[in-house]
Order: sequence, then structure tokens, then C-alpha cells
Amino acid sequence: MKPVAEASAEILAAFQPLGVERLPLLSALGRFCAEPCVARRALPPFHNSAMDGYALRAQDVIAASAATPVVLPVVGESRAGGETPPALAPGTCMRIFTGAPLPGGANAVELQENVLRQDDQLTLLSALRVHDNVRLTGSDVQQGALLLARHSELTPGEVALLASQDVAAVSVFRKPRVAIMCTGDELRDIGEAERPGSIVSSNAYGLAAQVLAAGGEPWVLPTVRDTREDVARALRQALRADVIVLSGGVSVGDYDVVREGLADAGIVLGFWKVQMKPGKPVSFALHGNVPVLGLPGNPVSAWVTFELFVRPGLRKMLGDLSPHRSELQVRLAAELKRSPGRTEFARARLIRDAAGFVAHLLSKQSSGALSSMVGVDALLELPAERDRLAAGELVRALLLRALPA
Ligand code: AMP
Ligand code: MG
Repeated sequence: MKPVAEASAEILAAFQPLGVERLPLLSALGRFCAEPCVARRALPPFHNSAMDGYALRAQDVIAASAATPVVLPVVGESRAGGETPPALAPGTCMRIFTGAPLPGGANAVELQENVLRQDDQLTLLSALRVHDNVRLTGSDVQQGALLLARHSELTPGEVALLASQDVAAVSVFRKPRVAIMCTGDELRDIGEAERPGSIVSSNAYGLAAQVLAAGGEPWVLPTVRDTREDVARALRQALRADVIVLSGGVSVGDYDVVREGLADAGIVLGFWKVQMKPGKPVSFALHGNVPVLGLPGNPVSAWVTFELFVRPGLRKMLGDLSPHRSELQVRLAAELKRSPGRTEFARARLIRDAAGFVAHLLSKQSSGALSSMVGVDALLELPAERDRLAAGELVRALLLRALPA
């Protein structure tokens, strides 16, 4: 049985960023740059005003104060999107608005709330420094500067920056296409007629949702029957995907035919047991470039093992250099007794207090309890060797969603 850390490292190493595709800027949201983005143009592209006020020469108002006001005639106007203003003659000023080009000769802008205006005469009561309230060409971004390094995530901020550069399309890493194969004679789809002993293949939906949430593209295959032939046939088809995720059929029951089907499809297993709870029967193979993960059929085990072993790999394929969930040390709300031997991932809710976060374990921790996958903030990693953890003790939490308020 592989220790969890070893299994994660081995599996993650098998996932590599995929090929590159060019996408329209907005469609690239959430993707990662496959090449560096360099500034095509300076930002701002011209000197302009940061405020509504008056453009002038700072040297003309150097002596201005409440006791010694300076009066300048107002000549013309510069507004955003308007005509290029004429150059400013010495000893004059120009009405100007935010974002409007600074007239030639002007080097500062005085705010409209600091001046007195009467007809075309402007009274200034304080001095200005050169470049006060002016946004200089290239002060934000210089032409040729590195805007985004390779592997940068395109969040709304990055999208806005690229748009300002006239970038219509971006090269990003491709989304992984993930084949999802659920095995089990008892499984039926939503709405399909019930048979004696049948259950809905909730993993088909849960795993597809996890793939989507991770940024991948799920490809759910029809339910696979519990025969090695069916498993092998489905696997051969699934090998067209970038990743294959199977659920069920990987333990040692008579109908657990996944290992045989894998062998028939020519897929050589790396390992098939991980020292963890829930989810001991996790199998892994790398077939060419395609990672193949056999997850347990129990819904909670499938969900947790996907979270630990598949999600980071998908994030890495997308180009994410930090593919893991954020972690936090949290305090246990209550004492916890357990049987040692396997690393346990317990579902918990977190509650904030003055000292940090307190973890409350969900009352149901069985690997079959679907109701225990709802409202979970974090998975707590309980060390394999410990049989008792004290109330208040610190444990590692993998955060599954934003921290509660
Ligand atoms: P297995 O790993 O095939 O032995 O399945 C373990 C348990 O998980 C059994 O109770 C199965 O009925 C259940 N199970 C297997 N596959 C699924 C699935 N796709 N959706 C929901 N439950 C499943
Ligand atoms: Mg089964």
C-alpha cells in the first residue's frame, strides 16, 4: 500500500501541461498563458489628465498662495475623446477633464475644487509641482514590458490588461478532456427505469461536476457492465481522452473486474492501493501520456480521491503551477478517537473564532453516505499513526471553498 504523499507525487508527475490553443480573449478567462505576453504599446498611450480641472504650466503658478493668488486666462478645453487640443501658450490655462489629452506645453493639472473661476479668469491659490495630476505616457506600462509570464492565470484583471493592449486572442494551454467510466451492473442513469437493486450512478454526475469545477471537460461514457470485456472495450474508446477516470470495480469482490479489463486493454497498473481512508482501492497507470485513475465506487471515496489525486493533475495540465488546494491549520472542536493505520480525510465544517478556525467533523463519516458531501468546507488530514487527537489540537485542512465569514 502506497502512503498518500508518495501516491500523490507519483500521480501528479504523470500529468503534464497539454498542447496550446488560441482563444478569443474572453473565452480564455480561467485559462493559463502558454506564452509570455509583452506590451505592444505604452499605457497610457498619451499624456492625460488624472482629474477634472485646469491644465497649466507649473512654473506659471510657482508663487501662488492664498495671500498671493495668481490669475490666468482660461483658453479652450480638452475633453476625453475630443479633438487634440492646441498647445498651451505661456501664462494661460485650459479647461481639462479626466482622461483628456494634456495640451502641449502644459505639465500639471489643478483640481477644479481648488480654484476660483469667474468667466474666463482662473484664480489659483496654491502652487503645483510638475506632473501633479498628470498621467504620463508609459507611466502604467512601457512598450515591450513583460505583461504576463507564461503560466499566468487569466483572471478578469489580466483580461482587462490584455484588452487595453488590443489583444484579441491569447495562446493558452488546452483544457484536459476527461473520460469518466462508471462500472457496475447495479447502475442506472437519472430517470431510467428502476430495476431491483439498482441505484443511480451518482458518481457519473459528481465526477463530471468535479472535472468541470477544476476547469476540465468531462466526457461521460455509458455505464460499463461488470465484465472484463465491457471494461476493456470502454477503456479502448476512452484512451482518446487526455485522462481516464474510472469509478467502481477496483476492490477484490468477484465482480471487481477493472484490473482485468485494464490488463486486456494493454494498460499496465502502476499501483492499486493507497494507505488512506476513505478510498483505499485507488489504482493508477500511465498509458502513453494518458493518466488512468481507478477510483473506488463508494461516492464519498470517489469524491475524496478525485479531490486528492485527479484535481491537482487537471490543474497542472491547464498550466497551473500551484495546482493544490490552499491549506490551513485548524483546531479540532472535539476529541477524536480512531483506529490507526491509514491517513484519514475527514469532512469538516469550519467556524471562525478569535484565534482562527475550529473544525467540526460532520457526524457521518462513512464512505457511502452521500448526504455527508454537502456543506463541507474542508478535508482534515488525520495522520495515519494517531489513534487519538485531543480537542484543540492543530490539524491540516485542505480548503474546498472560500473560508466562511
Ligand atoms: P465497487 O467499488 O464497485 O465495489 O462499489 C462500491 C460501492 O459503490 C457499491 O455500493 C456500489 O453500488 C457503489 N457505486 C459504485 N459505482 C457507483 C456510481 N457510479 N454511483 C454511485 N454509487 C456507486
Ligand atoms: Mg461495482
